[in-house]
Amino acid sequence: EEKDKTSGIHTFSDSDSKDSMSNSGVNGKKKKIKQTNKMLRFGTNVDLSDERKWRLQLNELTKLPVFTRVVSAANMLSHVGHVILGMNTVQLYMKVPGSRTPGHQENNNFCSININIGPGDCEWFAVPDAYWGGIQQLCEKNNIDYLHGSWWPVMEDLYNANIPVYRFIQRPGDLVWVNAGCVHWVYSRGNINILQFVVLFKLNVGTTGWCNNIAWNVGPLTARQYSLAIERYEWNKLQHFKSIVPMVHLSWNLARNIKVSDSKLFELIKNCLLQTLRHVIATLEYVKLKNVEVRFHGRGKNEASHYCGQCELEVFNILFIREQEKRHVVHCMGCARKQTPSLSGFVCLEEYRLSELMQVYDAFVLHHPPPS
Ligand SMILES: [Zn+2]
Repeated sequence: EEKDKTSGIHTFSDSDSKDSMSNSGVNGKKKKIKQTNKMLRFGTNVDLSDERKWRLQLNELTKLPVFTRVVSAANMLSHVGHVILGMNTVQLYMKVPGSRTPGHQENNNFCSININIGPGDCEWFAVPDAYWGGIQQLCEKNNIDYLHGSWWPVMEDLYNANIPVYRFIQRPGDLVWVNAGCVHWVYSRGNINILQFVVLFKLNVGTTGWCNNIAWNVGPLTARQYSLAIERYEWNKLQHFKSIVPMVHLSWNLARNIKVSDSKLFELIKNCLLQTLRHVIATLEYVKLKNVEVRFHGRGKNEASHYCGQCELEVFNILFIREQEKRHVVHCMGCARKQTPSLSGFVCLEEYRLSELMQVYDAFVLHHPPPS
């Protein structure tokens, strides 16, 4: 998923009459063009997840190498068990030349695949994960929030801070692999210059300069990817920024679904299970202390993970529900206690029995593949 904000060219508005070129064609003759439809200049996060509508196109993408595929057993995001639009489904980005995708890391530091489907070129700027702190400091210096804000680094600032930058052109047909934690920002150059684009645009002759890209995320089953995702999950909590990937829910699914033979990855997942199990037990004890009844609720198949309606924290297993404006809103324990220390008025639902979680925890052991 890209965090896109429109900037750059604002002079293409079809109601713009100040543009000196608005009425002149390429041959210099005056020509009045009637435009009834509003032109879309920056189409961000166009959802291509519908398998019926986009069957042919999505089928083409299954021909890609396994490590880049939208769905594969080796992709952590295929184990989330539900759709995360634009992460484990495909999205399209349509931009006129001059559009900028501001600097960001992917949600929870997952990797991403980005294919330029033409006709325009994109210019990429990318900084390895190890330097994200340096960029965050630059944002701070400029009073911009790294996660919530919109920023475009000045090359000289990066040079002075000894931050290396990869800079390259992505032509139509080129696939960019954004590695875990890589900070990147993208400029849509098109394949013609801005003046040519203005003329062609005003003549309404197609989309010569447009940059169209499709993108999705992948999570290789590696210790590095998992630890970067968990670290960002924790930092997001501190920054009050929603983690689009429900890492706790995902970790329990990984424990259920896969055999892990990498000891480092195993330890990291096992530790997450342990911490959340501790949290679940402490929550149940606290609820009991407050004489609130816990009702077993279970989970529907492919049911989305839950987030607190107040603070957007992932809420795992024990949900505090309260009716607000005729809707049942999920709360985390912290927010429930803040609202009502006695927890009265809240219904407490349990998704998994403690015994079931304990069984998953115990059954998750380091796998020793037979020698081949
Ligand atoms: Zn909350």
